Amino acid sequence: MLYLVATPIGNLEDIGKRALACLESCELILCEDTRRTSILLNRYGIHKSMAPFHQFNESKALARVLDELRGGKEIALVSDAGTPCINDPGLGLVQACIEASLPFTAIPGPCSPIQALLLSGFDTAQFQFIGFLPRKGQKVLRKLLSYPGTTIGFESPERLVDTLEELHTLDPQRRVAVAREMTKTYEECRRGTASELIAHFKEHRPKGEIVLLISGGKLPEEELSLDELLELLQELHGISLKEAIKLAAKLKHLPKSAVYKQAHS
Ligand code: SAM
Repeated sequence: MLYLVATPIGNLEDIGKRALACLESCELILCEDTRRTSILLNRYGIHKSMAPFHQFNESKALARVLDELRGGKEIALVSDAGTPCINDPGLGLVQACIEASLPFTAIPGPCSPIQALLLSGFDTAQFQFIGFLPRKGQKVLRKLLSYPGTTIGFESPERLVDTLEELHTLDPQRRVAVAREMTKTYEECRRGTASELIAHFKEHRPKGEIVLLISGGKLPEEELSLDELLELLQELHGISLKEAIKLAAKLKHLPKSAVYKQAHS
């Protein structure tokens, strides 16, 4: 049987009794990095054979692991931190188990996107997780800013200010949150507009692991009616109605002919 076991995302105390019992009783632990997992196992005095299972050997290791599972071996899968399969190895193995009708279960525990959602105070009823935020992804960011619920994404400390700057350009009023070093000594969650957070992180260079959250809403141009948008575009950019129609169609993702028809109705 396969067990997907969530492990701490910083504070080694954040592990449940079931997870520890499973790591204690299984015959093999598949790890993203055996050195990282050894730190956790040593902390709890668990001595168990480990084998690497990461993005570079996942497809190669799969057949062997499936054979062992078929033979009735008790195997736990952990990642370096948090919940396996969430931007971490494991999904291929889960899908192969389903395909081969091999039993598996998941032992719940820390998961950084969910932890960050709790700290943000943003809508928890509707949210989307997008993995790492896109690089130079204005188009994708626009789409994220049109999502009505909370958007949760991973970001690196090096890229954080750039991404906040792009968010500021697209929607200066939107509330965002940066959850950093969660469960660790320097845990912090900062909330505000992108420009407020830029000001802070320009002064205090961001370090460590980061989850960026965007509160739900609409892009400013989506809140305007078509007529209001056409008027505003002409006024702001000093362009003709024809040019404003072209731009509005792009912004509203509508066919130009539909915008033209409404503008002349
Ligand atoms: N599977 C993991 C989980 O469930 O949390 C996520 C793995 S993903 C490869 C690693 C990313 O998770 C980091 O780059 C960071 O964005 C986020 N992360 C992990 N631990 C974190 C922490 N303690 N504080 C803030 N972000 C964290």
